[in-house]
Amino acid sequence: MDFDLFVIGGGSAGVRCARIAAGHGARVGIAEERFWGGTCVNVGCVPKKLLVQAGEYGGWADDAAGFGWTIKKGPHNWARLIAAKDAEISRLNGIYKRLLDGAGAQIFEARATFIDAHTLDVGGKRVTAQHIVIGTGGHPVRLPIPGAELGIISDDAFYLPTMPKRVAVIGSGYIAVEFAGIFAALGAQVDLVYRQPLPLRGFDQDMREALAEALTAQGITLHPGSRPQQLAADGDERVLTLNDGRALRTDLVFFATGRAPATQNLGLENAGVQTNDAGAVIIDQNLRTTAPGVYAMGDVTDRLNLTPVAIAEGHALADSLFGRNPRSISLRNVATAVFSTPPVATVGLTEEQAAEHGPVDVYVSRFTPMRHTLSGRARKSTMKLVVDQASQKVVGAHMLGEDAPEIMQGLAIALVMGATKADFDRTIGIHPTAAEEYVTMRTRTRVAGVAKAAE
Ligand SMILES: Cc1cc2nc3c(=O)[nH]c(=O)nc-3n(C[C@H](O)[C@H](O)[C@H](O)COP(=O)(O)OP(=O)(O)OC[C@H]3O[C@@H](n4cnc5c(N)ncnc54)[C@H](O)[C@@H]3O)c2cc1C
Repeated sequence: MDFDLFVIGGGSAGVRCARIAAGHGARVGIAEERFWGGTCVNVGCVPKKLLVQAGEYGGWADDAAGFGWTIKKGPHNWARLIAAKDAEISRLNGIYKRLLDGAGAQIFEARATFIDAHTLDVGGKRVTAQHIVIGTGGHPVRLPIPGAELGIISDDAFYLPTMPKRVAVIGSGYIAVEFAGIFAALGAQVDLVYRQPLPLRGFDQDMREALAEALTAQGITLHPGSRPQQLAADGDERVLTLNDGRALRTDLVFFATGRAPATQNLGLENAGVQTNDAGAVIIDQNLRTTAPGVYAMGDVTDRLNLTPVAIAEGHALADSLFGRNPRSISLRNVATAVFSTPPVATVGLTEEQAAEHGPVDVYVSRFTPMRHTLSGRARKSTMKLVVDQASQKVVGAHMLGEDAPEIMQGLAIALVMGATKADFDRTIGIHPTAAEEYVTMRTRTRVAGVAKAAE
């Protein structure tokens, strides 16, 4: 065999897995066909957050007047922002490649496909390995409507030559609401078109309602319950026809309508690797596929599609195979954030999920953040705890408001440790912060899940 381990895909999961395995002394090869660092570094988390931050400066410039500043906000220079972002991304690409080199992994800048469970074609070269791990991630998908090719996907949004004046974003998942916020903050007129009654399906209902309100306050026009039927061009304009017959005229249509696992044309059938109906590689607790010796991790398995999960899985697999430390990671209480304006962050169960298991005490606090008492901006924060009544364990924490992602990371530790509401209550707050609200929620807002438990 040429290698002990061959990793397909140099994204969050693949780079970590290859690097750690090589560090354990394994002979490692890794193939990446497009960009080192994968989706997160190149067309995902990192550039997305830089664009979100670009938008925040505009808001702060407006808000500063309430604090006595006279700031004249000039026009935003999109091309300059994208050039700065590109420079940072290519710096990160270099770091990822050097990390792999430094660890002793052999790098292939090519596409890899299976010939059999231990043999790959890597850019026309035959390579054998005792273990092969699939970390090919996913890719964005457009709605299957006529004219869909006239719209863009998230990969394109990071390389637009100019900032559009009007944008229609289709979808209401995290990528949709994040980009709606980015474009609105940079001055575009934004329409958000989605099928559900509220954005962020699967998130806590109070957060979904608060977010719909916040998006409206940001000046975004919401079109809930809407299904696009077709997209057409009228000169430079785009015309999006909805199910109720309305036609939205805009400059750019952005399909944020989901992602599909990258399993096509990989030769999985040659290796006996099975996928589910959504095209995701089927794995067990230990990331083993249906083919002995072949593993899969990260977005290609389509469970919790987040960078820290992909990285943790890559690391755990390398430790299990070569580090004499067999382990798997838990997907319970994984904190996550949506970088909308303002952001949403969450860990644990929603009120609706928790109530399925029995009675829960719900604490909700909604307030104007201190900054906006002077800025005059109409912005509210919402914070929430969901507590299992029987054990008094805090089973869910949710927040919409500035700094929510930074706050939620700390709360995630408390939930992972099994903290109770009494543990929260005996913790002294930091004043004046929004975060102190989590340790001063004394009055229960409501009880949920009682009827279910009594059934
Ligand atoms: C717009 C956007 C914003 C996001 N924001 C966040 C966020 O804020 N926080 C967060 O945690 N997550 C975020 N994510 C999700 C995150 O990017 C993914 O969960 C993460 O990148 C998954 O890592 P991965 O290694 O599984 O796949 P990827 O990072 O997608 O890496 C897979 C790599 O495999 C390569 N590849 C595919 N097929 C082959 C082949 N046959 N041969 C060789 N190479 C191949 C691809 O080119 C790619 O580089 C975001 C995603 C998007 C699209």
